[in-house]
Amino acid sequence: MEKTFGDLGVATPIVEALAARGVEYPFAIQQLTLEDSLAGKDVCGKAETGSGKTLAFGVPAVQKIAAQNSESIGGLILVPTRELATQVHEQLEDLCNAMDIKSVCVYGGANIEKQIDKLNAKADLLVATPGRLIDLLEREALSLADISIVILDEADRMADMGFMPQVEWLLRKVESDHQTLLFSATLDGAVDILVNRYQTDPVFHEVVSEEPTVEGMTHHFYAVHEMDKAKVIAAIVEPAARSIVFCNTKRNCDRLTKELENLDVEAVTIHGDLRQRHRETAIKKISEGTAKVMVATDVAARGIHVDDVQLVVHFDPPEDHKTYLHRSGRTARAGHTGVVVTLSLWDEELTTKRLQKRLNLEQDIKKVFSNNPELGSLVAD
Ligand code: AMP
Repeated sequence: MEKTFGDLGVATPIVEALAARGVEYPFAIQQLTLEDSLAGKDVCGKAETGSGKTLAFGVPAVQKIAAQNSESIGGLILVPTRELATQVHEQLEDLCNAMDIKSVCVYGGANIEKQIDKLNAKADLLVATPGRLIDLLEREALSLADISIVILDEADRMADMGFMPQVEWLLRKVESDHQTLLFSATLDGAVDILVNRYQTDPVFHEVVSEEPTVEGMTHHFYAVHEMDKAKVIAAIVEPAARSIVFCNTKRNCDRLTKELENLDVEAVTIHGDLRQRHRETAIKKISEGTAKVMVATDVAARGIHVDDVQLVVHFDPPEDHKTYLHRSGRTARAGHTGVVVTLSLWDEELTTKRLQKRLNLEQDIKKVFSNNPELGSLVAD
């Protein structure tokens, strides 16, 4: 019998706030971890983006901080990117309201003075990227003296992005008695070091079924011409309400977005060179449906959660099979079907063939031009 949030120990105001936004049944990672984390244990969870891990660590954080009733920050959530910081903060805001605590979100690339003002007003839960938090501590803009819970979200990404020294520096600064929750898609290498050094008798939980697999998706492989590529994309995305197109470089992202706009396709770009405000607007547009195509690099797309993606297009063939699965996993979520299209230029076909072999998806790479009617009917509208 699956337990409800209440059965797992979640406080009634939080249960009600979750129900008010349609979250009534705990996802697997929440079923697995909530009892332990609410009981105050250190938990190490292996889980991917989209598995529901934000609530798995957010609920215990909110509940613990509310019970603690301290004057300064009681909980710290460290995340690798500013997008993830905003998303975590937003996902927890109504729970914080329900428990009468305040969450503040700080990240680099935004005005630090404004963040300091917010911290001064009231902050119980802090969602932060490592670099900005260090800046703020150096300016003595906040205190970590009352922290009772620390969360490391996407620890593997923080390691990949080279943040381990900062993360460890910060963890050493938390000297109060506290509980540590760690969530990561992989638990080896640098993450394993964090677990060993900064967690005490952690309970391990893993959600196996959330790994992206090729099942549940329809895969198409097309050989296209350079000059016709943007038009091919325009034809493919036409019937889909929401698509993500992955490019290998920022330059390709920018160029494709312009070309799509010239073809009257509403597209937004997400890559690392863009200003924070631009990125936020882009995410808002795609979530609200005012743009139907998000053009992104792999790194920029990490940690960004967009629901109901019907179509994923690999504008450039992905680097390897893992990237293919990761990108394609943006569609066919939560039991929905999804369509995945990979485009190859003539000199990329060999790479694509190798990729297919690795994925066990050996099929023809079909030569197409943008006026092929097949392209407009890949996604059922
Ligand atoms: P996350 O992996 O935390 O980014 O969550 C992915 C998405 O699933 C978010 O939109 C959450 O609001 C949603 N979600 C998380 N847990 C549940 C749940 N138990 N029931 C329904 N939706 C959920």
